[in-house]
Amino acid sequence: MLRRVPMVHECARPGCDTLTMGELCLDHERESEATVRRRVKRLLPRLATASALVAAAAAGALIKSRLLR
Ligand SMILES: [Zn+2]
Repeated sequence: MLRRVPMVHECARPGCDTLTMGELCLDHERESEATVRRRVKRLLPRLATASALVAAAAAGALIKSRLLR
């Protein structure tokens, strides 16, 4: 029975010829993780604001519907 050997290929980043078994080499993997973390950090306050607005709108609608009864 043949043993499966993981495919080793070049990193997906243009200009990077580091061999890897994943999509990106270790350096670029870390780099993209850091980028995602930075993006999430930047987006979180906006998400919090958006959900606060939705909550306020929902509360407003609830109050309005009770007042109209
Ligand atoms: Zn790379």
